Amino acid sequence: MNIHEYQAKQLLAKFGVAVPRGGVAYTPDEAAKVAQELGGPVYVVKSQIHAGGRGAGRFQDDPNGKGGVRVVKSVDDVRDNAAAMLGKVLVTKQTGPQGKEVKRLYIEEGADIKRELYLGMLVDRATSRITVMASTEGGMEIEEVAHHSPEKILKLAIDPATGLQGFHGRRVAFALGLEGKQVGACVKFLTAMYKAFVELDASIVEINPLVVTGAGDVIALDAKMNFDDNALFRHSDIEALRDEDEEDPAEIEASKHQLSYVKLDGNIGCMVNGAGLAMATMDIIKLYGGEPANFLDVGGGATKDRVTQAFKIILGDPNVEGILVNIFGGIMRCDVIAEGVVAAAREISLNVPLVVRLEGTNVDLGKKILAESGLPILSADNLADAADKVVKAVKEAA
Ligand code: ADP
Ligand code: MG
Repeated sequence: MNIHEYQAKQLLAKFGVAVPRGGVAYTPDEAAKVAQELGGPVYVVKSQIHAGGRGAGRFQDDPNGKGGVRVVKSVDDVRDNAAAMLGKVLVTKQTGPQGKEVKRLYIEEGADIKRELYLGMLVDRATSRITVMASTEGGMEIEEVAHHSPEKILKLAIDPATGLQGFHGRRVAFALGLEGKQVGACVKFLTAMYKAFVELDASIVEINPLVVTGAGDVIALDAKMNFDDNALFRHSDIEALRDEDEEDPAEIEASKHQLSYVKLDGNIGCMVNGAGLAMATMDIIKLYGGEPANFLDVGGGATKDRVTQAFKIILGDPNVEGILVNIFGGIMRCDVIAEGVVAAAREISLNVPLVVRLEGTNVDLGKKILAESGLPILSADNLADAADKVVKAVKEAA
């Protein structure tokens, strides 16, 4: 799960991470009020969307205008810029061409930037450790740095038995070229960031840029946090930060029914049980020349109700021109699944080709139920046959 920059900064600040003062605003007047309280002399008006690259991004209605992060010098300018940004669609490198509507702003005190650095923390699956990434190349995308000058990124894997130690902090500080009191500030920053990461079950914390100010302070000017969904049950306060405006409505609907759904760009809807089988199904659709419209895992206990919900979600995508159901009845019996598929297909009066591949317990009975349903369901014998049939059926229907 993702949260906004201002929310990440509030969480990190509780752990002692140094961030500028600021406040969230939903209207131009609220923005002006926050600015008044901050007192100036420099204010930054920052679009809050779940995507980076806001500074370099442009608003759809004003492609030659200013970006989504603006430095201004008066309360009136804060109000005017807030009015110009709220309700407008911001397009950045990370939003895709459709952009995202700005519904909240963060009004922050302007920092006196001497240097822009990069600091990130993530779970590195290769080493199974929380890994710190630090670079002097702040402000730009770390992926770019990794591509063009990987030697400029310091990576430190933290042993979970010892946690982050002072020497880790000092190594990062020296790699970033910090000196004097900045070294101690960096160690304190990193220690607080690590504590937040572990205690909040984060999966990513990215500070880009981390800046050194004219006064020699080391502070976070941007903050991105991502959380492990599987740990959210023990962080109701973080769950409460979820901004559904930023998420795909179909994915939200799916999660309410315990379905794992990810929308993709193709035209063949997939309904599968098990994430691994779902991945394999998407692969084989591509192998047969089709494009999957989604990833959908109905989970182990695929009841009739869940299958119906899954069909509705798949068909809610206007690009879907055919559906492939690929279910392995291990714990679930194939006849129960077949009944669910038939009932669901009737209830939603399915109007695109449907290919069903069942395998496992009671498969013959399952196939019989499909065949006797009177519905135009194409039954497939194996995965390759299923992919072939659905790709052909979609082409023929087109
Ligand atoms: P994004 O990464 O989405 O573009 P950032 O929060 O990193 O957004 O802001 C972009 C740039 O704007 C930063 O690299 C920094 O130069 C400037 N900036 C952001 N916040 C402040 C601030 N409080 N004071 C001064 N400059 C800022
Ligand atoms: Mg940034």
